[in-house]
Amino acid sequence: MATGSVGIVGAGTMSSGIAQACAVSGITVTLLDVNQEALDRGLKSIAASLDRLVAKAKLADGEKQAALARIETSTAYQSLSSSRMVIEAATENYDLKVKILRTVEALLPPDVILATNTSSISITKLAAMTQRADRFIGMHFFNPVPLMSLVEIIRGLQTSDKTHEAVKDLALRLGKTPITVKNAPGFVVNRILVPMINEAFFVLAEGLATAKDIDEGMKLGCNQPIGPLALADMIGLDVCLAVMEVYLNEFGDSKYRPCPLLKELVAAGRLGRKTGQGVYSY
Ligand code: NAD
Repeated sequence: MATGSVGIVGAGTMSSGIAQACAVSGITVTLLDVNQEALDRGLKSIAASLDRLVAKAKLADGEKQAALARIETSTAYQSLSSSRMVIEAATENYDLKVKILRTVEALLPPDVILATNTSSISITKLAAMTQRADRFIGMHFFNPVPLMSLVEIIRGLQTSDKTHEAVKDLALRLGKTPITVKNAPGFVVNRILVPMINEAFFVLAEGLATAKDIDEGMKLGCNQPIGPLALADMIGLDVCLAVMEVYLNEFGDSKYRPCPLLKELVAAGRLGRKTGQGVYSY
């Protein structure tokens, strides 16, 4: 792929991280959001993240300035028209994503690849909503993008080999390690991770151990950097619940039923770190 410039839709947590990874790798970025405040916040968080890298001597100050200079922001979709690839990373909502993809593809030459960072929506289904299903693919980054090296590349049923290769090349250029997976609910990593978290809630609800001991057990016994319950608080209990509900509906298999304790905590508004209380208090 001629990595002239990459368009990124959304300026939230993920889009900002993806924009930073591109800019640090020498790729020019157009970051688009409908909300100017989100763009301002996104740029601020990128600058702060780059400052931390400079402080740790992982990036020279000149490289930081050069990276920032590669990021252009806009609230006008038209600004994406010269992108060589567009990565959609806006709010997780099917109807919204279809609307965005259709708006964006109408502006782009036919050969431009469209990727989405969705964590739960079918790549095959989204691809079918576009006029370029073979040039559509999932590019699932992990949070925080600048620190996490994995990118799950999800091939929809229609994705061409050429599209797959181009996106794999981009992931490598960003210094990431791509794995290729077929389209299915949760793809691979979250399909294994979130039911594991859900099981930790069952163990807690059954009173088998305290939250602290469950987390300690999984950290020391499985070499996990953070226990599943503390991780749930970081991800957001509402997000974990929504993901389990997607698996339950999509697979129709009761093994994905959300733990009642998880539902109860979400109902109480205890969503984790973002509300100051989840399994733990912050
Ligand atoms: P976020 O809420 O932080 O940011 C979403 C941004 O999209 C907001 O700034 C919002 O203004 C913008 N937006 C909404 N409608 C838009 C439109 N029509 N055009 C342009 N921008 C629009 O969300 P996030 O956590 O960064 O998640 C973004 C995507 O990444 C979702 O699909 C999510 O499933 C996926 N994802 C998230 C994570 C995570 O840990 N947060 C991890 C992997 C993938």
